Amino acid sequence: TSAPLELTLVVAATARDMGIGANGGLPWTGLRKEMAYFARVTKRGDGNVVIMGRKTWDSIPPKFRPLRGRLNVVISRSFPPGLPKDPAGGPDAGPVEASSLETALEYLRQKKAVESTGTTANGGGRVFVIGGAQIYAAALGLAEARRVLLTRVMSDFSCDTFFPLALGSPTSAEEAEKTASAPKWVQRSRAEHAAWIGEEVPEEVQTENGTEYEFQMWERVD
Ligand code: NDP
Repeated sequence: TSAPLELTLVVAATARDMGIGANGGLPWTGLRKEMAYFARVTKRGDGNVVIMGRKTWDSIPPKFRPLRGRLNVVISRSFPPGLPKDPAGGPDAGPVEASSLETALEYLRQKKAVESTGTTANGGGRVFVIGGAQIYAAALGLAEARRVLLTRVMSDFSCDTFFPLALGSPTSAEEAEKTASAPKWVQRSRAEHAAWIGEEVPEEVQTENGTEYEFQMWERVD
């Protein structure tokens, strides 16, 4: 009797090959407005959650983590198995330490169930999966993964880590054959995107530091 829980992946990836990382960090620097978009979208509303892999956690400068205003959940095989414990401390406590994505989701389902019967009115928070590649791959293997907020980076960067799903790239007949039975992802309109995130989405391509990108929303339609 688990409450339904929906996962939204948030990622910035190169248009050419879905590159997301290099040398343990981001391939690009100085996309300040892009990072501000990520912060606003993942914070909007109450009780939101960000789930990330241990390497992504390590890539965040200590003074910025846990990411403020959101419950942070970190996944590592080095954490004790079973249901993770509540973090000690105040509202910006954390992170919650989970030994798998599945136990993280079980923890969040139980927390939601408790909060919906209690006085804390944040049982409706959104759950975002914020990387890296390994945790995106684990999430995409679950039926709960319904949506991807993609920042498509048109400028090219050399990367060593890649988003494990090709969105919007022209598929060859051979590739289409392989993915025929895989879940189908469609890009939503700018209006649908804006309605879901709760703010306007710029129509034009953004340019920061000479890097071009645009904001997109994709949803699974199976
Ligand atoms: P991840 O952040 O996905 O972390 C990987 C770690 O997560 C593993 O080493 C392991 O931790 C743990 N883990 C992975 N799978 C499982 C599992 N099934 N069960 C339990 N624990 C698991 O690392 P990646 O290397 O894939 O990605 C990091 C890169 O991605 C960096 O370069 C980062 O900057 C980039 N990035 C880019 C983003 C973007 O939007 N462009 C967003 C986020 C990250 P342990 O080793 O402790 O057991």
